[in-house]
Amino acid sequence: MIAIVKPTATPEQLNHLIAWIESKGLSAYVSEGTNETVVGLVGDTFSIDPFLLESMDIIERVTRVSEPFKLANRKFHPEDSIIDCGFGVKIGGGNFQVIAGPCSVEGEELVEIAREVKAAGATMLRGGAYKPRTSPYANQGMGAEGLRILAEAKDELEMPIVSEVMDPRDVQLFVDMDVDVMQIGARNMQNFPLLKEVGKTSVPVLLKRGFSATIDEFLMAAEYVMSEGNEKVILCERGIRTFETHTRNTFDTNAIAVCHQLSHLPIVGDPSHAAGYTRYVVSAALAATAAGADGLEIEVHPEPSRAWSDGAQALTPSQFKNAMRRIALVRQAVEMEDE
Ligand code: PEP
Ligand code: MN
Repeated sequence: MIAIVKPTATPEQLNHLIAWIESKGLSAYVSEGTNETVVGLVGDTFSIDPFLLESMDIIERVTRVSEPFKLANRKFHPEDSIIDCGFGVKIGGGNFQVIAGPCSVEGEELVEIAREVKAAGATMLRGGAYKPRTSPYANQGMGAEGLRILAEAKDELEMPIVSEVMDPRDVQLFVDMDVDVMQIGARNMQNFPLLKEVGKTSVPVLLKRGFSATIDEFLMAAEYVMSEGNEKVILCERGIRTFETHTRNTFDTNAIAVCHQLSHLPIVGDPSHAAGYTRYVVSAALAATAAGADGLEIEVHPEPSRAWSDGAQALTPSQFKNAMRRIALVRQAVEMEDE
């Protein structure tokens, strides 16, 4: 349920309203926009009489939110959320960011890759230290040492780092190592204990859509994180499983527009995992950009044939540089370029 507050309401009246909502055993989330203030009520709202609420002096109107996601819902927060990832890098609400780097952190070479992607215009560095591999015999990543190398690259390049956390028991390590954005992989989108654990931190979360998740399930996963107190969720469309076999996944660019419609959270596109093959990655990146994504996550490796993981979909630094030029052109063409 949401209550739209009249523009004439004083802060005292608003506080009084919040106290009243809390006295009913519900939580109140206030979103002060430029045009209106929205108070979202979360909990068992069936105990509240909407007519009683509407009869209060400061209330303009009350509506029930039928969707199961509340905190992630645009009705709760009409304006786009802008998430600060560190080093002044903000995403959402017209701020477009490109996260680039290798699938796996493979050693000190990461620092050189970071220099190259930054020079090409990437604003955040990615690298997996803990890898969710389909086979238990495949390389599982460098672990904590990988996080240390990411931190080294971050210190030199002054750009936020993004890395996947797979186990709730590792979340504190990621916090201690100052990972700027914790990625939740597609395979873990419904790992509820993990979602709750990252929800207890204040570190931004890059939440990838599960292969077979509907958009509602995706937004409910975001709701899990937010309901624990961490509202800094960045959605990521990375392709879903269909009957098609020419690409690794089918890139659901519709999801970008649908998520923007339903939610205030930023959404980035991951053309690398969506396409699965280098030759299709750039067109998917351009499509996501044109569809209004708030950013992209792209895998880049200097020698894709030697990559520990996902070499088949990696761009080389020079391919990435060329892609960045075209991404900027698409942003201009659809009039989304940064001010
Ligand atoms: C990754 O980003 O390397 C990754 C494993 O992605 P996804 O969870 O989308 O498969
Ligand atoms: Mn990968």
